[in-house]
Amino acid sequence: MPTRRTLLKSAAAAAIAVAALAAVAPASAKSGKPLKVVATFSILGDMVSRIGGDLVSVTALVGPDGDTHVYRPTPAAARTVSEADILVVNGLGFEGWLDRLIETTGFKGVRAVATAGIDPIATEGGGHDDHDGHEGHDDHDKGKSADRHGDKHQGHDKHDEHGHDRHHKEDESAGRHGDKHDDHDGHHGHDHGAFDPHAWQSLRHAAVYIDNIAAALAKADPENASAFYRNRAAYAAELKALDAEIRRLLAALPADRRTVVTSHDAFQYFGRDYGLTFVAPQGLSTESEASAKDVVRLIRLIRDGGIRAVFVENITDPRLLKQIADETGAAIGGTLYPGALSGPDGPAPTYIDLMRHNARTIARALAPR
Ligand SMILES: [Zn+2]
Repeated sequence: MPTRRTLLKSAAAAAIAVAALAAVAPASAKSGKPLKVVATFSILGDMVSRIGGDLVSVTALVGPDGDTHVYRPTPAAARTVSEADILVVNGLGFEGWLDRLIETTGFKGVRAVATAGIDPIATEGGGHDDHDGHEGHDDHDKGKSADRHGDKHQGHDKHDEHGHDRHHKEDESAGRHGDKHDDHDGHHGHDHGAFDPHAWQSLRHAAVYIDNIAAALAKADPENASAFYRNRAAYAAELKALDAEIRRLLAALPADRRTVVTSHDAFQYFGRDYGLTFVAPQGLSTESEASAKDVVRLIRLIRDGGIRAVFVENITDPRLLKQIADETGAAIGGTLYPGALSGPDGPAPTYIDLMRHNARTIARALAPR
């Protein structure tokens, strides 16, 4: 429990952060031009456009069907970031390439970390999973080890970045999320690889994402703050209704049909919210390769557990999952969208469509017939 004095101290720090940010906030409302917002990937981009409407112009660095885990920023991306008023990122180490990009571009605008204030899922082994994965890879592929090493350093640098963002969050939410601050402070000392970044797979957490996004837009364009908060409220109501819809849909699955096999480990938050177990041959990042041992273990689990369907993903190579399906006689239950929207003509052109599509695909494939 924090003492009253620490709370007062952090309130003072938040006030200082507000003052500092006010000095750099772009005066877009006065110029009448839409705020330039860059989101790191398509899901965040969709959330920003829902909240910002015509008052913002949004660019997602990693577009539909793109894999943020393995993204490499282009010179064009660097230019886009350097011209942005606001940068919206997921955090929790999802964008391993972000620090280098920010350094390159000298971006000085408002940075919003969408996951600030969520209840993150800790990964097994105290957060060294990710690193172990990289090291395992290095053993097999010395040629790539220099790159991998660079990634690790970026991962560590995220401590600093998160520290800053935490202050942004504090000043945005001062007085609203007192207990969340404590929670966050508790996590702050840990390795950031220690948490699963795929938190948008929880609709409850998406409500926090859009709070953080609305607060960042309001800070950068205070004259339009009421419009942003109005859009956020309407969007939050839709997310809540969808959460209830998915809960009803998945509650119908019997206890022996609640295990879902996917390509990479991106659905732990979804599983926690709806009481499903997700297993995957690949780890938290699509960068890590499935080991032969993991694949054998998964095949045994599918056979012994009577699992009838496995799911491929829009962002990963389906070959391994198809092989596992062949080996076990399980069907391909459909395509899930772990971390990127589909194009406009696909089944998941918005975040809401994505969550509904994933839930319906799982329910349809696993339901007894
Ligand atoms: Zn992922």
